[in-house]
Amino acid sequence: MTRETILRKGWCPSARRPMQAKDGLLMRLRISGGVVSAATLRWLAQAGRAHGNGVFNLTTRGNLQIRGVRKECLPYLMQALEAVGLIDEDAAAEAVRNVLVSPLAGLDGRDDVSSAAKALESALAANKDFHALPGKFGFLIDDGSALSLGPVPADIRFDWIGGKQSFAIGIGGHANEAIFLGLCGGDDIPDIAARLAGAFLRLASQMAEPPRRMRGLIESCGAGAIARIAGLRPGPPQKSGTIEEPCAVGLLRFNEIYCFGVAAAFGCLDANMLDAAARAAEIFGTGEIRLTPWRALIVPFVHAEEAGAIRAYFAAQGFIVDRGDARLAIAACGGASTCDRGTTDTRSDALALMFFARSLCMTGVALHVSGCAKGCARQAATPFTLVAHAGHYDLVVDGAAFDAGTNDANRLNVAAARETLEAMARTAGQRSELERQ
Ligand code: SF4
Repeated sequence: MTRETILRKGWCPSARRPMQAKDGLLMRLRISGGVVSAATLRWLAQAGRAHGNGVFNLTTRGNLQIRGVRKECLPYLMQALEAVGLIDEDAAAEAVRNVLVSPLAGLDGRDDVSSAAKALESALAANKDFHALPGKFGFLIDDGSALSLGPVPADIRFDWIGGKQSFAIGIGGHANEAIFLGLCGGDDIPDIAARLAGAFLRLASQMAEPPRRMRGLIESCGAGAIARIAGLRPGPPQKSGTIEEPCAVGLLRFNEIYCFGVAAAFGCLDANMLDAAARAAEIFGTGEIRLTPWRALIVPFVHAEEAGAIRAYFAAQGFIVDRGDARLAIAACGGASTCDRGTTDTRSDALALMFFARSLCMTGVALHVSGCAKGCARQAATPFTLVAHAGHYDLVVDGAAFDAGTNDANRLNVAAARETLEAMARTAGQRSELERQ
């Protein structure tokens, strides 16, 4: 099954267009720039308790989801979200505002891209032509921060590379696989993104089966055709080598600014954790929290000498505070416990395998256990991905969930998956031992 086929079957929830899940309605909030105040976070915690089941998710696009919303509460919750400015005018404007910007925009990074990101969001929401973009079609702006968005895939992306025209324009993937279409300044980003989105819509509309992602369009008609319509030209790749997924956990220093990052296992938080994060931001920071695409929250402007107290505080509230925590090696959707398409308890299997996963790959997410080929928990390629089929798994190496095979005979149960990962870990250990000698 191709990625296009799988995406055609699915759609993304939003606040105006919640999705029915096993535990109730799921609302996804697109918080502009991922910047949220302690007061707003506290408000959300209370709203989640009052109208939902008090559970929240941090997504790989830096969005926050409210889970378990009861149907009868939906109108009140929408009204309340409107009053605090967390919901768009209509569902289409909300869906199209899929802009991921560096989580520390304005604090770290080589260029402050906050205003370019806001201008792009406004342009996408205001121009109804763009509302025809497919649900998952996403934009990304990386400001050159140490917390690089390079490994995060996007349909249209701008990566800081330095110089006068400091952003590399790319389409269709993460920073290393995207097709390079030239350079631009930060102020040009909204206009160029709009031209590329327009080119996508024009070319896709001429196809019998319009692709849902830029990568699909590139495969159908080539990057040259897209670039020509947008007034750009493809060029040689700008980046090479692997880009490591950054770890946003622990005390982080950016120039003279200290921040503290904490993660949540599987991106799952309860209302008490949101309250705790809000309180920490007020006690240790300036009352501001940044949401990241790595299932972590960052409290900016902390004091380095308080790192021990901050760590202890967050650890007591159930957050991951240690970069060596093996839970950072795994990603998994809720599987059978939260989703109708899920057939397997993906999270408990992921927890059972996390130490093997970490020994195979020392940084970033090493193992993605997906409830099905849709791969909701992670779109990016992962060293190991297990795709569930009623308690058995397809193993994908260096790929994504939608790369899973269709041969039932090759499927592994969790014990066999564990043995396979264990054997791979042993071989990798022997190889590095030989290399050391
Ligand atoms: S990946 Fe997981 S959450 Fe997404 S549709 Fe499949 S089972 Fe459901």
